Amino acid sequence: MSDDPRIPAPRASSDAAPVPHGPCVLLKHGEVFLKGRNRHRFTERLQDNLRVALRGVGGSTWIKTAHNVTVLGGQVPVEALVERARRVVGFNSVEPAVRVPSAFDDITASAIDALRAVSGERRGLRFAVRVRRWDKQFPLTSSRMEVLLGSRVLDAVPALTVDLTTPDVTLNVVIDRRETYLSCERLPGLSGLPVGTSGRALVLLSGGYDSPVAAHRAMRRGLACDFVHFNGAPYTNPSSVYKAYALARELNRYQPPGTLHVVALGKAQKQLAVAGAGRLQVVAQRRLMVRTASALAGRIGAQALVTGDSLGQVASQTLANLVAVDEAATLPVLRPLIGREKQEIIDEARSIGTADISVLPDEDCCSLLAPPRVSTGARLPHLRSVEKRIDLEEVVEALLDSAQVLRPGEDEEVPVADDGCPAPA
Ligand code: ATP
Ligand code: MG
Repeated sequence: MSDDPRIPAPRASSDAAPVPHGPCVLLKHGEVFLKGRNRHRFTERLQDNLRVALRGVGGSTWIKTAHNVTVLGGQVPVEALVERARRVVGFNSVEPAVRVPSAFDDITASAIDALRAVSGERRGLRFAVRVRRWDKQFPLTSSRMEVLLGSRVLDAVPALTVDLTTPDVTLNVVIDRRETYLSCERLPGLSGLPVGTSGRALVLLSGGYDSPVAAHRAMRRGLACDFVHFNGAPYTNPSSVYKAYALARELNRYQPPGTLHVVALGKAQKQLAVAGAGRLQVVAQRRLMVRTASALAGRIGAQALVTGDSLGQVASQTLANLVAVDEAATLPVLRPLIGREKQEIIDEARSIGTADISVLPDEDCCSLLAPPRVSTGARLPHLRSVEKRIDLEEVVEALLDSAQVLRPGEDEEVPVADDGCPAPA
């Protein structure tokens, strides 16, 4: 207990029920915070997704939410919790922290420990203390607490200096009724809307850089994603399927795992070629892909398709060709990368961890039967007359019936609710 007469008697930590003290992680909510009357639903989904992300982390964990912050702790090293939490869409920041009773002496001791650890007694390290009170009944104001903590830290670690404008390290202190959280590090989270709060989408996943980045962007806007990959079997080797599987597994680390549907398109591609698609072969294939994907989406309850198209990136992605593709889809086709440049996309692929997979060589179905020069201006009447020569409905049906369903990244059984999203743990 402090004997400083300037400090009002703090509430003893014994007046509170015991709480697990020690290391934990503070997760600041992002856009969920702005959701007004729906906030409850968004917060619940955020927590469900966090629970799924923590599966298999190697020990028991606990979660508690207050004041738009989720606190995460457990019998697991904080580094492991941080790593998992940074992949959950919807948290603006991730802070390794310490949880102590809301008693002045406990807070002071922990502040000194934290700054001593960061400074390593390094001479001249500049620090600041920022205090927020969730509990306005706490007997000291935030600014008073900042001054007192700062001076106690300086007394204990004289090698430090105070700098409130450009500190090397900021000690953040959040005081709640029973417990207080102290942290010196704020890592960026993924922000965005919790996966599943915007519905479910089916991503057309090729082996390139673009579609995985598009999927990641769709997830960050709250879409739970399943994936469909078309390969050229039986005329190509399975290399593109291995890539699609590895990409979906990587992407599933950001969401409650979605399924991967692999469709062997080779024979149908041949049918289009025989029907006279010529320079429109690639666009005709894309139309068949979105037709098939639309039907598959209907079966699995997805409400939209997602592709990695970027306007004008390659011949098949001119406006005329995209319009021709859209005409064949029965669901909205979302294109999160439509205005992005290739280099931006590759940089993003690196940061989300898909670039190393996308760079691997594969035998892509689109290059199978591709004409030497792809038409940049799809003519719809020509496309329709080619398609009339084959029984499209039957082709789509057969493609779907022979599709393979894989579950990349599902190391453990994840209970799934009726809406296809993870059931609360
Ligand atoms: P790249 O980085 O090589 O451009 P990409 O994935 O963007 O790869 P594109 O040929 O540009 O491939 O195709 C545009 C979009 O069409 C893709 O982003 C993807 O959504 C879809 N697509 C193309 N090929 C396939 C495929 N084999 N399976 C599923 N979707 C595909
Ligand atoms: Mg592309």
